[in-house]
Amino acid sequence: TEACLSAIDSADALNAVVHKTPERALKMAEAADKRLQSEDAPALCGIPLGIKDLFCTEHVPSQAGSRILQGFRPEYESAVTRQLWDSGAVMLGKLNMDEFAMGSSNETSVYGNAVNPWKVDDRDLTPGGSSGGSSAAVAADLCLAALGTDTGGSIRQPAAFTGTVGLKPTYGRVSRWGIVAFASSLDQAGPMTKDVRDAAILLRAMAGHDPQDSTSADIPVPDFEAALTGDIKGKTIGLPREYRIDGIPDEIDALWAEGRRMLEDAGAKIVDVSLPHTKYALPAYYVIAPAEASSNLARYDGVRFGHRAKLDQGDGITEMYEKTRAEGFGAEVKRRVMVGTYVLSAGFYDAYYNRARRVRALIKRDFDEVFAQGVDAILTPATPSAAFGLGEMGGKDPVEMYLNDVFTVTVNLAGLPGIAVPTGQDRQGLPLGLQLIGRPFEEGDLLNIAHTLE
Ligand code: GLN
Repeated sequence: TEACLSAIDSADALNAVVHKTPERALKMAEAADKRLQSEDAPALCGIPLGIKDLFCTEHVPSQAGSRILQGFRPEYESAVTRQLWDSGAVMLGKLNMDEFAMGSSNETSVYGNAVNPWKVDDRDLTPGGSSGGSSAAVAADLCLAALGTDTGGSIRQPAAFTGTVGLKPTYGRVSRWGIVAFASSLDQAGPMTKDVRDAAILLRAMAGHDPQDSTSADIPVPDFEAALTGDIKGKTIGLPREYRIDGIPDEIDALWAEGRRMLEDAGAKIVDVSLPHTKYALPAYYVIAPAEASSNLARYDGVRFGHRAKLDQGDGITEMYEKTRAEGFGAEVKRRVMVGTYVLSAGFYDAYYNRARRVRALIKRDFDEVFAQGVDAILTPATPSAAFGLGEMGGKDPVEMYLNDVFTVTVNLAGLPGIAVPTGQDRQGLPLGLQLIGRPFEEGDLLNIAHTLE
């Protein structure tokens, strides 16, 4: 813990940690030291972690990267972080992120973006988003591991951009209670780690049924680490032809082929599969996620949480809402709230929201059919490129940024587990990651297959 705290203090330039909690960390570490002396010391005793700012942490600022939550210190602890502390883990601080987890580069954060510790010629690159503070912190050794959340790729894309491992569990595996909601039917928390084994250990501590989250699955949590046998003989891995999209750099294709070879060498059988509705995934996601966000973000009204605008004489409650939301939310969040409100409005609900939900069901069915053919996991690239330069993407057209999620959003729409594993480098030496998608609640199997790609 002391080593991490001092690493954090000398890494301010990365802007990865937005609220440091050194006193709390040292107290937790001391308590962990005591617990370590007992026979039944818990699994994570003394392990220092960084926590994405989307998790509510008791009496510690929890701002979700937004101005509107300035000053908000929850009276409660999220279910996931509570479980981690009960397992002996130590909280180092809160990590940077895109505002309300909306973004792929960390640039929508009210704190300014975190910076990728990987550089090309001193050029600052994005650590990815939205969990970019988490990926930067793990890659720069500011913590042993971090928590992220993933609604459309926000764990897997930043992991791929920083050479770290990022796991999005099956929807319902990890409680969402106490995590600031973005799109509730897609959001899942997961570990961001240096290797697959750490992801397995952390997932076990994070997962489990929580009656406080009605979508939490009442399914036993196995020992995921024990699943890492390294034996994948006889496993069938699908390569979806729809993920071969135009304009993808050769090096991503080469990486994908390399991943295929690694799995084959380890004894897996590779088959071509088809997920025909893949091309509708991004449009469906960018209807459903904003729709849910517009509803979830209605609670930020200047009354219950955080920031409230200064009011003029004669302003009533409506002006208070309007002014607070106008200055509290950033541009991307406002765009999502407007899109979401539009697609849910009486005249357009069927044309957009309902249609997107039907597309979502088809996307899920594509996966069900592939798994029914005996496929154990699906291998794809994690991202369409390596980390890009800060300020280079999405400035003129937000859709340019949304295209980053092309390989990751299907997994959230279908509620499946997905993991990004660092498997190679681009021409400039930047890390590249592959994605494996697994069957629902088969994270053990998924982690074991991912382990062979390390
Ligand atoms: N980049 C995607 C978005 O902006 C995904 C974000 C996420 O997974 N939280 O919505």
